[in-house]
Amino acid sequence: MPKHELILLKNMMEPGYTGSLHDYERAGGYQALRKVVGKVPPAGVTGMVMKSGLRGRGGAGFPTGLKWNFLPKDYIGPKYLCCNADESEPGTFKDRQLIERDPHQILEGILLACYAIGSETAYIYIRGEFVLGAKILEQAIAEARTAGYIGSNILGAGITVNVWVHRGAGAYICGEETALLESLEGKRGLPRFKPPFPATNGLYNKPTVVNNIETLANLPHIVVRGPEWFASIGSPPKSTGTRVFCVSGHVKQPGNYEVPMGVTFRELIYEHAGGMRSDKSLKAFIPGGASAPFLTPNHLDVKLDFESVAAAGSMLGSGGVTVMEEGTDIVWAALRLMEFFYHESCGKCSPCREGSSWLVQTMRRIVAKRGRMEDLETLVDLCKNIEGRTVCAFGEAEVAPIMSTLKHWRSEYVTLIQEAEAANLIKLEPAVRH
Ligand code: SF4
Repeated sequence: MPKHELILLKNMMEPGYTGSLHDYERAGGYQALRKVVGKVPPAGVTGMVMKSGLRGRGGAGFPTGLKWNFLPKDYIGPKYLCCNADESEPGTFKDRQLIERDPHQILEGILLACYAIGSETAYIYIRGEFVLGAKILEQAIAEARTAGYIGSNILGAGITVNVWVHRGAGAYICGEETALLESLEGKRGLPRFKPPFPATNGLYNKPTVVNNIETLANLPHIVVRGPEWFASIGSPPKSTGTRVFCVSGHVKQPGNYEVPMGVTFRELIYEHAGGMRSDKSLKAFIPGGASAPFLTPNHLDVKLDFESVAAAGSMLGSGGVTVMEEGTDIVWAALRLMEFFYHESCGKCSPCREGSSWLVQTMRRIVAKRGRMEDLETLVDLCKNIEGRTVCAFGEAEVAPIMSTLKHWRSEYVTLIQEAEAANLIKLEPAVRH
């Protein structure tokens, strides 16, 4: 029995719930759409979302209603909603579950968002590896179209919305909103320079909103139960509602857990995910996907809300909480993440393209016990020359594992280097004697 009220995962926890249109409607689905289409003006729906305090669940945590409000009001012509289902952040797997187990909850959210911003076309950009998810979404769209929720003259209110699924090809960077737009346009997925922002110059250079799957899934509940109800959950006023956190790593029960914003990491890891899988104690955890700086056991009582995690020196990010037990080789863990980022750098800007290569080479040397003490200065220097000097936020992401592990576990880097130096001395000894 979950300790907190479930909102997004509620339906799928019911025995026998299949995610079909029939099951979703029986659980109260599409009531939000019926409540507003043709009855509440689009600006009223945006107002509800602003009042709820809902912030993006993809990583940046930008206020959703405010993002919608940036679209030009007097614009005549196509506007687009792009639903970001790329979910390529390591350690993050919540959107996949929401898609596969309750697709109509997302579709209703998409329809509400389109109604609010005046868009007749929505694209769901789903990562290529989510083959099952793409198929389930296609089936759900067909069901919703037959029932009159998608297409022309929705619910007889003269509103048109069409929803299309677009499968990506597996590039991490296509989770970045402007790279996603480039990819949707059929080009190589490279981030765009900002400004201009998608709100004015987005897909096909038209006003566009990009929202994450979990963000959109919240909308039907906000409309049906009211923005005040949503705003009362979690850590108001800045972190409202629940979040689905993906707990992975060395815990007894890895999985997705929906909890109100503001519970502590201790509760999430030890109560919901069952605690450490062995007798070993916690050594480290990454609080918000691979892009987030590592935290230590001293941060277990930090609250899972945007502000508290930022104050602790990390970020809530995508909600992927990766737990590491005592005995984990932390320098190796940082290297593995760095290798991922090196592989996924799109190559558009040189600090990231060249810097990631140098970082990987230096880290590999240290882990292979061929490092030198000056490598530690080199790592910091490289990171500082990447941070804030790149086209997209990938630059900050790729330096996070190294900078945070150097901050909290510098002694482990030093030990590896001292072992390397000692081994070199032993090798040199015979030559010295001659
Ligand atoms: Fe590409 Fe990296 Fe530059 Fe982002 S920071 S545009 S991923 S090279």
